Amino acid sequence: MPQVQNGPIAVLMFGPPGSGKGTISKLLMEKLNLPHISTGDIFRENVKAGTPLGREVKAVMDAGGLVSDELVNRIVADRLSKPDCAGGYILDGYPRTVEQAEFLSRLLSQAGVRPLVLSVETDYNVIVSRLSGRRSCPNCGAVYNLNGMPPKVEGICDACGARLVVRDDDREEVIRQRFEAYEKQTAPLVAYFQKAGVAFYTVNGNEGTPESKAEMAARLIRG
Ligand code: ADP
Repeated sequence: MPQVQNGPIAVLMFGPPGSGKGTISKLLMEKLNLPHISTGDIFRENVKAGTPLGREVKAVMDAGGLVSDELVNRIVADRLSKPDCAGGYILDGYPRTVEQAEFLSRLLSQAGVRPLVLSVETDYNVIVSRLSGRRSCPNCGAVYNLNGMPPKVEGICDACGARLVVRDDDREEVIRQRFEAYEKQTAPLVAYFQKAGVAFYTVNGNEGTPESKAEMAARLIRG
């Protein structure tokens, strides 16, 4: 497996909801041989397992709010201290605020880890057509897409025969709100990291497969 040169790196993934950031991060994890750390996944797993942390964050998550900086920072610092992070990692969904970015920057400089931003730049129209074409099975969880991966029979799940639905998250007005919230949240972070002179790479999220985008990202990162 090719390793990244010049010491450990922290890949900070940016990309709006629907950009494919999560899928690209997972593929990148294999290509760079670095763990993929998603704060959203950590919180969801804890909610599912009913841990004290899960109980603490459930209400905030259900309301669509952000977990406090203090708590997220603590969870991330703990996760990054694990042995599998010694060679670097891919951070997905963190940092989300300037306070988190400042905390992370201090942590990275103490640990001698070099940050770089990877932004999956994706147009709003592309995201809407991707997400609004999504149909989900409320029974077995299978996901289809009218643009490219439709079910065999319109409106019916191939796997279990249930009637497919559009998830609330995938309705256009909700997509717009999430996109705008993302842009509002991310702009100050981009400014923060650019001012700090952190390397900034972009991949075009509009075209190609997740695999081709991850390959492009891996090439940029390996340099
Ligand atoms: P989304 O579903 O909005 O794409 P994620 O899957 O990354 O977000 O995270 C799910 C939820 O977990 C968020 O809505 C938020 O409540 C919480 N969360 C995740 N990462 C952070 C973070 N860095 N700061 C604050 N809250 C976070």
